[in-house]
Amino acid sequence: MYNLVVFGAPGSGKGTQSARLIDEYGLYHISTGELLRDHIARGTELGKIADSYISKGNLIPDQLMIDILDDTLANNPQTANGVIFDGFPRTIQQAEALNEMLGKRGSKVHAVVGLEVPEEELIDRLIKRGADSGRSDDNPETIKSRLDVYHNQTAPLRDFYTREGKYYGVKGSGNIDDIFAEIKDKLRPTRPNE
Ligand code: AMP
Repeated sequence: MYNLVVFGAPGSGKGTQSARLIDEYGLYHISTGELLRDHIARGTELGKIADSYISKGNLIPDQLMIDILDDTLANNPQTANGVIFDGFPRTIQQAEALNEMLGKRGSKVHAVVGLEVPEEELIDRLIKRGADSGRSDDNPETIKSRLDVYHNQTAPLRDFYTREGKYYGVKGSGNIDDIFAEIKDKLRPTRPNE
């Protein structure tokens, strides 16, 4: 059992590195952004609510996000073997809720890997991604709000997890394979039986 949080600003490469980590460690992947985009694509009630926040670059409300995550854990028994949380938590309230949700299942967050990328590079990547992602939030105006939201609401989690002794920062620019190799190196001491 191993629960890993992949943390970083929009455009820091969370999705890319999570995909590799899933192959490497065989963990269940929960991307809250993908989960919400799937609801939007299916036109569900939740999708309509989520879209009104996502398209403006805002976070969806904490309690709603926490309830969705609790449901996802409850409805997918494989999550008991370990999860990669990609894009969650994004606020202190969500991080505290995650500790509680895992705690009541007899588990915890084992490590948080933070992908650290300079601001100009994030903007550049997001604008490039916007050209073919089809995402309603990859446009210059929304990108700015998402980065503001990240700095104001999400970045404080770095201190939160540093205090818990769980934060492992990795330079998130450069070659994707090199970044992945560094992540694995940093996480090795936190992995069971490695
Ligand atoms: P992402 O794919 O992780 O960049 O997420 C895309 C958008 O989904 C974010 O800009 C938020 O509007 C919403 N979202 C994803 N995860 C969360 C979360 N943990 N809390 C609140 N909103 C979220």
